[in-house]
Amino acid sequence: MRILAIETSCDETSLALVDNGRTVVSMDTASQELYHRAFGGVVPEIAARRHLEVFYPTLKACLTKGVAASLSAEKTIQNASSSNKQHNYNHKEYNLKALSSHRDAYLTVLKNTIDAIAVTTHPGLIGSLFVGTNAAKSLAYLLEKPLIGVSHLKAHFYSLVMTGKITFPYLGLLVSGGHTILALVKTPLELEVLGSTLDDACGECFDKIARALELPYPGGAAIEELARTGDETYFTYPIFRPQQNKLSRYRYAFSYSGLKTAVIHNSPRYLTTPYHTDFNWDTLKPHIAASFQKAALTQLVEQTLAAARELGITQIGICGGVAANKYLKTLFNKAHLPKKKNNLAPANLTYVTPPLELCTDNAAMIGGIAYHYYLAGAVCENIFDLTPTAKSFKRDLVL
Ligand code: ADP
Ligand code: MG
Repeated sequence: MRILAIETSCDETSLALVDNGRTVVSMDTASQELYHRAFGGVVPEIAARRHLEVFYPTLKACLTKGVAASLSAEKTIQNASSSNKQHNYNHKEYNLKALSSHRDAYLTVLKNTIDAIAVTTHPGLIGSLFVGTNAAKSLAYLLEKPLIGVSHLKAHFYSLVMTGKITFPYLGLLVSGGHTILALVKTPLELEVLGSTLDDACGECFDKIARALELPYPGGAAIEELARTGDETYFTYPIFRPQQNKLSRYRYAFSYSGLKTAVIHNSPRYLTTPYHTDFNWDTLKPHIAASFQKAALTQLVEQTLAAARELGITQIGICGGVAANKYLKTLFNKAHLPKKKNNLAPANLTYVTPPLELCTDNAAMIGGIAYHYYLAGAVCENIFDLTPTAKSFKRDLVL
């Protein structure tokens, strides 16, 4: 079964063709990073407009990569880059006339080769979600294909299974610019949220600290780089540690707003050697980055390993943009060394991180999990009922 998947929940426009929940036939992702850099974060209005501009070029590139070979009208379709790397389209360079002349060929390809259309419906920026869901509805109506609305969060956790290196059940840690969630993943659609952030997301905190250190947005990778030349013991920033009371529903929670305030406004107070009087924010930047990174990532490791121990789970999957951080894996490995006293986790732990294009927002994971929605009968009876929602939080986290 081949699914055309659409992801536009935040600042990546991504389309993919995915077979049977596993095989990514093709994917094309247009990143908006450069458009938001000047503002130090994603601007919802710009994100929505940009999705609208690049949706069809991205669809075209995805189809050209995926099915050009099987096309009778093959010659009429221009070659697109064969790489799956993210890129930025300049809509002025994009020739709309060329698209309309090839429109029939593309529609024929879609009609003949795909079995369903899937789209992220929640959570996300509402303007961005509108673009993807409206496009999905139009295509489903035009091509007379079933439409599947997908949770962006469940899809992120499912991206771990698509690596082929992890099996159910596993502990999933989703750490991105918008989310910090620890879940027990039992099946593709059945997840138990063990903990999530009480305030800011981990990646968001990296971005805010990066801004204070005058590093470009998004700042996670730049902080990791700067931290390499710093001393992580220079500052003892607070590490969020929830009470390990079995009755508390917050015992695997995360929190980043306190750490953010400590670093940006009160760094001198957290000097490990307090008699330092020559506090100079500029020369201390590498130490600030290294000490912050350690504090920010340690809570992820501690809460995850505590849950692994309590539940007796030995497979841990880490996804979302922050999973790209190499020091995170180092910390996990250090924390569960068998010889260590007060060992936090069971032995034989394995860690899985998807490749970067499956870690950040992407349509491959949407097409992957949509197959399981389809098998479970979760298909829209009437495509006009499909409604995007910005939030996944009610009182508790709803995936
Ligand atoms: P979202 O779409 O929710 O913003 P993504 O999955 O696209 O999240 O990931 C982007 C986030 O990941 C940003 O907040 C970025 O700073 C963070 N990030 C990327 N690389 C690293 C890294 N090496 N270390 C820490 N954080 C990182
Ligand atoms: Mg993103």
